[in-house]
Amino acid sequence: MVRTLSDIDSIGVVGAGTMGSGIAQVAAQAGYEVTMRDIQEEFVQNGFDTIEGSLDRFVGKDKMSDEEAEATLGRITGTTDLADLTDCDIVVEAAVEDMDIKQDIFADLDETLPEDVVLATNTSTLSITTIASVTEREAQIVGLHFMNPVPVMKGVEVVVGEKTDDDVTALAHELAEDLGKETWESDDKPGFVTNRILMPWLNEGIRAFDEGVATKEDIDKGMKLGTNVPMGPLELADHIGLDICLDASETLHEELGDRYKPAYLLKRKVDAGDLGKKTGKGFYEY
Ligand code: NAD
Repeated sequence: MVRTLSDIDSIGVVGAGTMGSGIAQVAAQAGYEVTMRDIQEEFVQNGFDTIEGSLDRFVGKDKMSDEEAEATLGRITGTTDLADLTDCDIVVEAAVEDMDIKQDIFADLDETLPEDVVLATNTSTLSITTIASVTEREAQIVGLHFMNPVPVMKGVEVVVGEKTDDDVTALAHELAEDLGKETWESDDKPGFVTNRILMPWLNEGIRAFDEGVATKEDIDKGMKLGTNVPMGPLELADHIGLDICLDASETLHEELGDRYKPAYLLKRKVDAGDLGKKTGKGFYEY
């Protein structure tokens, strides 16, 4: 038996970056007690800064009162110690997109947390089944793939691993809905629904720019006005983080072959440390 939604009062979040801080925020906004863990105090603090900035914007737009913002922050505790997640009723992992790191985290969580606790991962492309394989609770591992920025984006992709139990899949949908999100389901295939289709689109935009088809502004404008998407490929790649795009593209390339090869310019930007919005420079400057 796993804990059901009515048993869940506290949520652990592993990783306090772009996604982890957003997941911690929406969970706290929904009334859950949240423990947010990163590997260094500085990264935990960055997570809190991101959350405070996001709450301030909600308050500024009259979407939230000062009291609600304060109460939300008050429900989040930061830590660098994985053992502080022991009392959490469910954990969502949002650390870097690296299979070895995720497997280490899941092996540690599996040892640390009671056996009826579900462990979810926010991975963009990595196999849920492979992550789960290092644990003794493979049936209790599920993908809970939030979209960026988490406090704003409505959708969550629930990813079902080879051994994920039906009750665990159901819990993932229920929890996401309780956080105010809408869900859809994907099998544990590379990139799931969203990134399998999104990553080649981003890479083609980057290649078009690199090959001089148009300026970056015109590529983004053309795709926005031409296909009715809110962001063009280059601004969206900056927004996601170019390192995250490269990791995702490399996984898809490895699993699905040459049509998923990352653009050369994407690699060059990541090597130069220009990762998009989060470093102040990607294809655009921020
Ligand atoms: P990020 O680089 O902003 O944050 C990752 C954080 O994880 C960093 O703060 C890092 O210090 C921390 N970390 C590394 N190892 C850790 C460990 N062992 N324990 C705890 N924390 C650790 O990355 P992100 O954009 O937040 O992505 C996180 C995950 O979410 C990735 O799997 C990514 O593929 C996925 N994702 C990202 C997006 C996006 O648009 N950025 C969207 C959906 C899913």
